[in-house]
This record gives sequence, structure tokens and C-alpha cells, in this order.
Amino acid sequence: MNSGLKDRISFAQTNQQGFGTRAVHAGVQPDPTTGAIMTPIYQTSTYVQSAPGKHKGFAYARGKNPTRSVLQETLASLENGRFAVCFSSGMAAMDAVMRLLKPGDEVLASNDLYGGTYRLFMQVFAPIGVKFRFLDMSDPALVKQHLHQGVKMVWIETPTNPLMHIVDIEAITHLLEGSDALTVVDNTFASPYLQNPLELGADVVIHSITKYLGGHSDVVMGGAVVNEEALYEHLSFIQNACGAVPGPQDCFLTLRGIKTLHLRMRAHCENGAQVAHFLRSHPMVGRVHWPGFESHPNHEVAKRQMRDFGGMLSFELKDGSMADAIFLMQHLKLFALAESLGGVESLIGHPASMTHASIPREERLATGLTDTLMRLSVGIEDAKDLVGDLAQALEALAQKGKSLD
Ligand SMILES: *Cc1c(COP(=O)(O)O)cnc(C)c1O
Repeated sequence: MNSGLKDRISFAQTNQQGFGTRAVHAGVQPDPTTGAIMTPIYQTSTYVQSAPGKHKGFAYARGKNPTRSVLQETLASLENGRFAVCFSSGMAAMDAVMRLLKPGDEVLASNDLYGGTYRLFMQVFAPIGVKFRFLDMSDPALVKQHLHQGVKMVWIETPTNPLMHIVDIEAITHLLEGSDALTVVDNTFASPYLQNPLELGADVVIHSITKYLGGHSDVVMGGAVVNEEALYEHLSFIQNACGAVPGPQDCFLTLRGIKTLHLRMRAHCENGAQVAHFLRSHPMVGRVHWPGFESHPNHEVAKRQMRDFGGMLSFELKDGSMADAIFLMQHLKLFALAESLGGVESLIGHPASMTHASIPREERLATGLTDTLMRLSVGIEDAKDLVGDLAQALEALAQKGKSLD
């Protein structure tokens, strides 16, 4: 390798650089055999050995794959962490982190978790003896009240889905100083561009890479980022022993997606702000949940721990029924009705009939999840077109109301 190339590599690997530079370069170096600038897809399951047990660090691709190794380095750098481990889905990453626990251990978790995480806890880990207590994590005093010897993990999601509550990560990690409980933060909604929980004292950051990191709605993947070497060794062991590894093609697509993460996130944030303000000013719209509003109950925490407010928001109709919300969603032309989030294209979802349909209606209403609540993942299209789309669908709903009067 020539010295120019070497300089390039060490330059790209320093962690002092800005986020955008790291999104493009961190972990990535020209392929040593050909000089290929982009990380090749190492589509192989095994590697030749010159003598039994003698190889170049790669023996079998469940344990290690070069495309995956590069992605893991990139992800660690974006979270300002030392190590990352990638998995075949966000849920596989969460499953791996949960396997750090033993029967009898207790987990304190947000009471409005992602549905799949709640299902993993209650239907996979509770039956084998892991205990769970669900709390409103936006009140750190509650967490303090329930901390005891048996608590081995505190699981935070922020912003939460779909009501966009913000949890003060630092306030909770402060409470845990001196305890052996791990703080885990599901950073999917914020992405590493907006929030870096390890810097706020968290032990493990988890991502559904499927969302903002991948960013193009074409890959399902997960990852965990840590600073402590022993934790990394343990998670790597689980990655190989349990085997939920992502394929090399998906690692390549994710690396490609990550190179524009900073540009996409800026557009998501800008469009999110415009859409949030438009909705708040519309006479037919009721509450709009977006942490960028000064009136948001956790706005100050969001300002402190996030770099911007993101492209996720939810809103409800001022007065209207579930049928009205469904009418509105079906009259949108740009926002597609779909689960998931974080892709370049705008999506709309209806928690009451989609992601949160299994929660009894009374319970749903009590938490503020009303029949007309709709969640937006605001994409990177032109803001005026997104606002125009919402405006024309609201107008169609108004006309429908008039024709019925
Ligand atoms: C999507 C999502 C997950 C699950 O990730 P998958 O990649 O779908 O397995 C976990 N947490 C949050 C907040 C999510 O949005």
C-alpha cells in the first residue's frame, strides 16, 4: 500500500472530524487488494486457511465478514462509541442485548415502548424469568423510586412513539451511577445525527438500522454500540453464537445509505418543522406532538440532548372520528400509508388501527393515543409539496363534512 493511501486511511479514521466527514469516511478504506474506493460486498461464507487454524483473521462469515466489519466501525464512530455489533434486524439487536441478563434480573423500561420491544420482553423474556417494570421515564423520580439491587437494566426510548415524549437520558444515567445496572437507549427515532446517548452516560445504544441509518426503506437491520470492551466481547460472542447476522449485501446498502445520513437528517428536520407549524396553524387540527414546539412538555430536555428536533411527529383532528382520520389518510397523495419510518419518502400511520391496535381502547385513550391520532415520518421531498398534500387532504375532509350537513 502506498504511503499516500496510508495517510488517507489514518486521516479518515480519526474521530475528531465532523459528523458528515465521518458519515462518508469512518471505518472505510480503499480495498487493499484492488484499491476499490467503495467497500466491496464480500459475498462469501468461508475463507481459505493456509494451515489448520491459520488465516487472515477471517475464518467463517457468521463470526466475521469484511463488509460487516466496516459497517460496524462506521456505526461506532457515528455514535462516538468504540465498538458496534450489527444484527439481522433491530429486534435481533434488542434480543442480543437482553441475553446479557439472567432469570431473576429486573428491567425498568419506558411505559410506551416500541410494540415489538414490548412483545420481546413479555412473550420471550418474561416467560424465562426476566422481570419487567414499566414506568413513565420522563419522570426520573419514578425511576429512582424503583431502583434496587435486582435492577440490572434500564431501557429508554426517546423520542417515544407515537406521542413524541422526551426522556432525559443524562438525568437517568446520573441516578444509576454506582449501580451495576446497564442503561440501554433505543436511539432509532433520533438517529446518531441528532443524539448520542453514550455521551450522556448510557452503556448501550441500540438502533433499528432499518429506519434512519439505512434511510431508504430497502434494508432490515439492527445494531448495538458500546464503549466498554467486555460488553463488546459479550455482544460479539452472542452475535456469533446465536447467529442473527446481517448479510454482506445489506451491509453494503447500509454503508451507502449512511454516507448521506447528515444531509438526509437536515432535510428531515427542516421539513418536519415546516409540517409541524403548518399543522398547528390549521383550524381542523387538534394537538400536534413535536418536540420543537416551546409548548412541548419536554422541549427544554429535547433542546439540551438533541441537535435538532427530527422528522417524526404526530397530530390529531380537532373533532372527528376514526373514520375521518382514515378518510384523510386515504386522500393523501404523497404520504404513503405504511408502517416504519426514517426513509427518504414520507409515510403516515394510524397507531389506533395499526401499530397500537392490540392495546384496549380505554387504555389507549388514557395515554393520549386518541382515535384520530396520526403519525408522520416526514421525508426529504420538497416541504411545500408535503404541506400542500396535507392541505388538500384536509380540504377534502372539510368538503365531505359540508356535503353531509
Ligand atoms: C422499528 C423499530 C424497532 C425494531 O427494529 P426492526 O429493524 O424492525 O427489527 C425497534 N425500536 C424502534 C423504536 C423501532 O422504530
